[in-house]
Amino acid sequence: MQLIYEKSQPGRRALTLDALDVPTCSLPADLCRAQDARLPEMAEIDIVRHFTHLSQRNVGIDDTFYPLGSCTMKYNPKITEVAANEPGMAQLHPHFSSSPVFESECQGAYALIHELERQLAEVAGMKAASLQPIAGAHGELTGTLLMAAYHRDHGNTHKDTILIPDSAHGTNPASAVMAGFKVVEVPSDKDGTIHLETFEAMLTDKVAGIMLTCPNTHGLFETDVAKISELAHAKDALLYYDGANLNAIVGQCRPGDLGFDVMHYNLHKTFATPHGMGGPGCGPVGVGERLLPYLPGPRVVKKDDSFTLATPEKSIGRMAAFFGNFLIAVRAYAYMRHYGDAGMKEISRNAVLNANYIYARLKDTYQSAFPGNYMHECIFTALPQAEKGVHATDIAKSLLDRGFHAPTIYFPLTVKECLMIEPTETESKETLDAFCDAMLAIAEAAESDPDSLHAAPRSTPVGRLDEVKAARDLNCACL
Ligand SMILES: *Cc1c(COP(=O)(O)O)cnc(C)c1O
Repeated sequence: MQLIYEKSQPGRRALTLDALDVPTCSLPADLCRAQDARLPEMAEIDIVRHFTHLSQRNVGIDDTFYPLGSCTMKYNPKITEVAANEPGMAQLHPHFSSSPVFESECQGAYALIHELERQLAEVAGMKAASLQPIAGAHGELTGTLLMAAYHRDHGNTHKDTILIPDSAHGTNPASAVMAGFKVVEVPSDKDGTIHLETFEAMLTDKVAGIMLTCPNTHGLFETDVAKISELAHAKDALLYYDGANLNAIVGQCRPGDLGFDVMHYNLHKTFATPHGMGGPGCGPVGVGERLLPYLPGPRVVKKDDSFTLATPEKSIGRMAAFFGNFLIAVRAYAYMRHYGDAGMKEISRNAVLNANYIYARLKDTYQSAFPGNYMHECIFTALPQAEKGVHATDIAKSLLDRGFHAPTIYFPLTVKECLMIEPTETESKETLDAFCDAMLAIAEAAESDPDSLHAAPRSTPVGRLDEVKAARDLNCACL
């Protein structure tokens, strides 16, 4: 595929302007370029084709089954796009959230923020939420800064450590370190969950907090979570909930009721919004009673019959410009209102049902990573296939040839030759069956003709890359 610069032909134009009918005047020389900008020169139709072809190379939830584990490739109802494209939302002045000048004109947006924060708090059993953080990881940083503020305020200067299970997402320890904490890793038990006695032994007075994902990134519910919360609180340690997997429990149980003090939501995972390719995210934080005074500011607060901005006295301050990625909040709001209470219960049920359907169809062929009951994702290990020379990566790439996106294979780090499969909750039985059939056919090929899998993918615009060369030699012609 040629770059647009390689297609450029000197003098080609996509657009011709009419001759000027006003006098020309020159700009100050110090504002002008010394040389013309190196822009591609092309006809309009060639530009249109160039970008149309590029767009057709994308893989997304809108054109294929997307079983990427730990990422919750949500169904994105198109009605949420309609809401986010309303001129009153899409064309809002970006400073609406930071300048009182706009207060009277932005009451609708303020009302939406206020109401969405309330809904998010309600759905997770928290006291309040803030929409400011712009990604899950940013929510983690906000949450750990909130924990630090709490301990500073309570004179807990000795509390400098955060416990994090080995199965956690890499952003957890990174966020805790950025917030000034030391991190100690809690090993998982063979069954994939936290071993209570080991945890208890690690819970010293120095522990400021524990970051948990539940269900965890092994797809398993942490069954000892109530006990963990009790033990932590007895030592004035705070419990952080990584909400990336909220999809599995939304409408069924609430982190706040399980004892969590602070959490983030990934609106781009649990509440619509296309996710992936590094697009914009929204990772609000939710807090219980203990951390309420420290929430980021400014916040939208209700005053008489209207809304205004106010910053809590002990606030940790601003975590993002404006109110984070506001249009993602609009999508989440539309999504939650669209589904309502009963609909959201259905989402988590279907997410768990779909993952367990796949698990049931594949478990006699692929080796389960853990013996437990999977929630919204299931994990296999391709170790038995790897012994015959077929690795998880070969299986993942063979799926591309069969028309499916690959599952997650390099995470969690606790599982070797990992195949972490998370189906979207809205997939039909036919789609799940087609995916399982492809997985079973690949397992058969791994036995009968392993070499055929090593060359995959053959049908994609870019075949199997030399990964070392691609990483070291960014200009190589391997694309
Ligand atoms: C995705 C994810 C995160 C980080 O969220 P981002 O929005 O990608 O920053 C944290 N923890 C888990 C378990 C995740 O899956």
